[in-house]
Amino acid sequence: MQKIAFIGLGNMGAPMALNLLKNGYALTVFDLSAAAVKTLADAGAQAAASAGEAVSGAAVVISMLPASRHVEGLYLGEQGILPHIADGTLIIDCSTIAAQTSQKVAHAAAARGLAMLDAPVSGGTGGAQAGTLTFIVGGDLAALERARPLLATMGKNIFHAGAHGAGQTAKICNNMLLGILMAGTAEALALGVASGLDPKVLSDIMSKSSGRNWALEVYNPYPGVMDNVPASRGYTGGFGVDLMHKDLGLAAEAALAANAATPLGELARNLYGVHSKAGAGGKDFSSILQLLSKHSE
Ligand code: NAD
Repeated sequence: MQKIAFIGLGNMGAPMALNLLKNGYALTVFDLSAAAVKTLADAGAQAAASAGEAVSGAAVVISMLPASRHVEGLYLGEQGILPHIADGTLIIDCSTIAAQTSQKVAHAAAARGLAMLDAPVSGGTGGAQAGTLTFIVGGDLAALERARPLLATMGKNIFHAGAHGAGQTAKICNNMLLGILMAGTAEALALGVASGLDPKVLSDIMSKSSGRNWALEVYNPYPGVMDNVPASRGYTGGFGVDLMHKDLGLAAEAALAANAATPLGELARNLYGVHSKAGAGGKDFSSILQLLSKHSE
């Protein structure tokens, strides 16, 4: 069995790695958090003491880190792992980062003869646990075919968006829309509740009306409306406000580069930014409801 190195075991990386383990893949894992490594080691993964140790002898390297600087640091930084990755290894970066950073790292990998894919995901922590993520891939088709069995273990839909960086661009368009939809959904629910409606009744009505959307139907931001979503566990264990703010910043940069108008994306970026500055950066992004609500639920 090929050895797989998995680096970055946070809210997304941990359940993705667990699905690979459950399907019989041999995993060596690393995270800056020792607790995160221990959880995977307890489930049967080999623990590594450093990223360099994790990639030693690996046939595939998968990374799932917060932002561009982490990915660039991991592969190209002073202690960067690119020189330690064996010839012929396939690199799959699932983090959501700037398309330019994906291209930079992929080109550095290509200069070493290594194939690399940007493969950001959609589907949230629920999708990561259930193995139903959507992978949005940029890079060579031949590399995607090599990655496909692994991606199919962690996800349900696999899209090829185009060349290196195209996966990131498509992901950022999706997340800009998600940020807008979540803020709009929270605003509508807060208005309804402030006007005397029951949030569950209003959610049921809008789910069967023209305002229906993923944030409302799958990831409802109002506490208690839905089980097993961050809003019903104190806005923990989901997709952080700071990560959404990062993605909306990436969308703003993409808009500048493409001379595209994204007024709602910019407004949403500012809303999540204000929410983060008020101390909510580590909460799930559906907590934007608290910024828009009369009462802090
Ligand atoms: P997270 O903050 O929960 O986890 C990130 C992990 O990376 C942490 O455990 C951290 O310790 C580790 N890490 C950081 N730098 C490292 C390094 N140099 N070496 C090893 N480990 C390092 O983040 P997450 O929610 O798992 O998100 C990861 C990526 O997936 C982000 O780019 C995010 O935008 C994207 N994403 C998240 C979700 C979601 O619902 N959470 C959904 C889709 C995409």
